[in-house]
Amino acid sequence: NSDFRNLVVGADTKVPTINGSYVTAINFDNAATTPPFVSVLQEVINFAPWYSSAHRGTGYKSQFSSNLYEQSREIIARFVNADTRENTVVFVKNTTEAINKLAYRLCDGKRRNIILSTCMEHHSNDLPWRDKCKIDYVEVDECGRLSMEDLEKKLRRYRDSLGLVVVTGASNVTGYKNPIHEIATLTHKYHGKILVDGAQLIPHVPFDMKPEDSPEHIDYVVFSAHKMYAPFGIGVLIGPKKTFEEGDPVDVGGGTVDIVTHDFIRWAIPPHKEEAGSPNIIGAVALAAAVRTLEMLGMENVERYEKSLTDYALQRMKTVPGIKLYGNKENCQDRVAIVPFNMEGIPHGVLATILSHEGGIAVRNGCFCAQPYVQRLLKIPSEEVKKRIEDPTMEHPGMVRISFGIYNQYREIDILIHMLHRIAAYKEQYLFKYTDTPKIL
Ligand code: PMP
Repeated sequence: NSDFRNLVVGADTKVPTINGSYVTAINFDNAATTPPFVSVLQEVINFAPWYSSAHRGTGYKSQFSSNLYEQSREIIARFVNADTRENTVVFVKNTTEAINKLAYRLCDGKRRNIILSTCMEHHSNDLPWRDKCKIDYVEVDECGRLSMEDLEKKLRRYRDSLGLVVVTGASNVTGYKNPIHEIATLTHKYHGKILVDGAQLIPHVPFDMKPEDSPEHIDYVVFSAHKMYAPFGIGVLIGPKKTFEEGDPVDVGGGTVDIVTHDFIRWAIPPHKEEAGSPNIIGAVALAAAVRTLEMLGMENVERYEKSLTDYALQRMKTVPGIKLYGNKENCQDRVAIVPFNMEGIPHGVLATILSHEGGIAVRNGCFCAQPYVQRLLKIPSEEVKKRIEDPTMEHPGMVRISFGIYNQYREIDILIHMLHRIAAYKEQYLFKYTDTPKIL
């Protein structure tokens, strides 16, 4: 769809290949970061002359900046249908910071304190909870899909001490979408709350937090701007105001207080209490601009187009000799635009390098900051992982991941498939060219 192509900056940038020629770059690493929308850049340029410190100045520009910053919260809240009478939108630098902030808030040792996470989480929705709370993990099946049976079993087990269920909206490895509203209903039945890591979900499908009186409602959601066509350095944590009303914020200083004497502090009201220091106003304005563009496109249309790209890629990948696909190999009904794979006989790092060096195709390889999940999909026990660390000749386990954005095209997938067929046909030659020391996959 060429209309979508023109929405982003730099979709047709030329990059060098190993042969010295230049090719049009293909970015299949959108699950890591997307390019910015043209509209986002334009908004930043329009805003630049009005740029000034928020909240603290009486100057016209400062007032203007403050208003725009606050309006950005409203635009973002509306996008996920957060009820702003109950919820607050805290600006943070990314999903990781959002989850750390929430873990600091919720794991105070006083409340119900079991955190039920899953075996398919990004490290950012696992490690922040580990050292602060008691944590357990819901199992995944052979394909990497969350086991709803195990979820129910563990909810029953922790019924008297359940604090929070923390679950990814969509996996950044297999793309699997979790039935978040169903999980929310179950969680609420056992008097817990739910956090959805929306980093991979929000940019790709319609999302609705739902009203608080609905059993399906999502209590907390977090996401990052750089995965949704806006810049790095801004993200959000959305959750009930009351979570942030009591107690001290993790970062303190300017902006977080209302009244201070030498022996007394009265914190500002949320979200300001949680936003220490001068805020990233440009980032907030840029994220709101990205949201407006996504709204204009319609998230149903985004979802439909990306699904058809994924389906196309999946069907075509199956024609490549030696390709091993992970997750659901049959269709892409239950996933966002992510396809993880390996090629028999070629280490994932070498394959990713060949695609980049020979074809200008950017993919990601490794464990995608979800090592326990990838180890499960590859059926590598923990002991084996430790052994491999000690042996430098052995390659770390991993896979190659392609992930699409709204501006990607079928013809780009054709180029990838063509390259994969070539690599499969001339495996020995490519291995000779790209591997110094043989490694065991
Ligand atoms: N959760 C998921 C599912 C992700 O894919 C990512 C980014 N790869 C994160 C969390 C962390 O996002 P950030 O790096 O923007 O904090």
